[in-house]
Amino acid sequence: MEQTIKEKGHPKGLWVLFGTEMWERFNFYGMRAILTLFLVNSLMMKEKDASIVYGGFLGLCYLTPMLGGFVADRFFGNRNCIILGGLMMAVGQFFLFFSASIFGTNIGLATTLTWIALGIIIFGNGFFKPNISSMVGSLYPKQEKSKLDSAFTIFYMGINLGAFLGQLICPIIGDVKDAGGIRDIHAFKWGFLAAGIAMLIGTAVFYFLKNKYVVTPEGRPLGGLPSKNEAADFEEGEAQKAVFSTKALIGACIGFVVMGILIHFVFGQNWIYTLIYSSGISLAGLIISDSSLTKVERERIYVIYIIAFFVIFFWAAFEQAGSSLTFIADNQTDRNFFGWNMPPSMVQIFNGLFVVAFAVPFSMLWDKLRAKGREPISPMKQAFGLALIAISYFIIAHNVKDLGNNGLLAIKWLILLYLIQTCAELCLSPIGLSLVGKLAPKRFSSLLYGVFFLSNASGYALAGTLGSIMPATGDKFNKAKELGIDLQAVLDKTITPTVEQLTILAENQISPTNPSFAGFEIHNLFQFFMVFVILTGLAAIILFLLTPVLKKLMHGVK
Ligand code: GLN
Repeated sequence: MEQTIKEKGHPKGLWVLFGTEMWERFNFYGMRAILTLFLVNSLMMKEKDASIVYGGFLGLCYLTPMLGGFVADRFFGNRNCIILGGLMMAVGQFFLFFSASIFGTNIGLATTLTWIALGIIIFGNGFFKPNISSMVGSLYPKQEKSKLDSAFTIFYMGINLGAFLGQLICPIIGDVKDAGGIRDIHAFKWGFLAAGIAMLIGTAVFYFLKNKYVVTPEGRPLGGLPSKNEAADFEEGEAQKAVFSTKALIGACIGFVVMGILIHFVFGQNWIYTLIYSSGISLAGLIISDSSLTKVERERIYVIYIIAFFVIFFWAAFEQAGSSLTFIADNQTDRNFFGWNMPPSMVQIFNGLFVVAFAVPFSMLWDKLRAKGREPISPMKQAFGLALIAISYFIIAHNVKDLGNNGLLAIKWLILLYLIQTCAELCLSPIGLSLVGKLAPKRFSSLLYGVFFLSNASGYALAGTLGSIMPATGDKFNKAKELGIDLQAVLDKTITPTVEQLTILAENQISPTNPSFAGFEIHNLFQFFMVFVILTGLAAIILFLLTPVLKKLMHGVK
């Protein structure tokens, strides 16, 4: 890959897609940076509820790509879906801008506008995301598919350059605190406006440059209406689509409903999380029960499923960035960064920054190891990724251990956490995508990508649930003290609060009890972070132990 990146071989269209995706991710991650802070500080939501909304929103953003991919393949084509999705996301951001402009006078309307905005963004992302990624693949004719790895590395850098810029600009103008640490809760709107403008720029870049550059080597437009596709645009055998029997489809629908009932009523998940989890499981069931699968194909699909399951824990831990880690950056961190007090929502910027810095070195590392015949197989890399996440949370857990209720975490520990998590992401995320491509039988390839994205979606939903068990941070103890209440004593149940005190706490979005997870009460931030250490650490160990079995089931695919 080292060589292919240096080669002048990439079509100009890649740079158009790079630019489009960069602006789109600016819009998405810029908004993500300030979203939960806006929900909590302007719309007066509890942090716990904001985490649940955040998880559900992100999860749905990864459920709708199934729809966007389907609509593009059957009806509108990639190009139209990218433009439609881009415009929808921009409109969604402008709704957030309106919501953040009027919440002071009409919080009810502002909240409704936020729901509408998030709904529009969810569908916009669904139209945009799968189609821009699949256009990267279609830029390269059959004989040039070897350039795909480096093309996706470049594209992944575009994603993260956009994330970096969005997480720089939106917090600077949207997450504003004065010298005394008092937040201007009316500034969020500027962050959303910037995100909306970025999305319009991205859509315009694509709109104006697509005809000239996003074309086949012969100059024919790529990603047009499906009805206009020429046979030459397909690879051999590609037109062969998966066809399911009515019986299998009915079975999957019944499975979907039964799973849904079980997940909602037995596991107590809200309907949105239920929808995400049961869609993933029933789609996976539908594919694996197909009678046309050979033994080898089926075993390879099992590998995809097993990996998809472990990936859930990765994203659940990783996506704390926009919720609990942002709340901690806001409420219990000394954010002095070389003399500058960084806005809390900007701390997550280090992820994008480190991806841009390390994406190429990482792919060079894999190339070097491959040349020596020592490249680990994909599931092993993913086990590394999970282990790294566990280590990152272990380090942070030990640094919050002695903070007490008032001590501040030094920002360097959060930066180190993002550094380690970025290495983890680079071991797991791009590798997972290409593994699905290599293992999936061609006729099921898009659907199996769908299952894989649904596992991301499930990870985000779990991220919401886990974020919601964050215990009270320093600001809550201080606020309670100002109000004359000893919050620690209330939480420890050494005093019983009066009804009046309970009302005061509720009005200030402070919970009088500790959160709990799987029957365990979470008393402090140390225990909170240890939940992630245990979940991802166990997942890493089990995946590591399973690697020899997976290797066998992969039948020669690396
Ligand atoms: N950060 C990457 C993106 O936004 C990957 C996210 C994911 O695969 N869940 O595209």
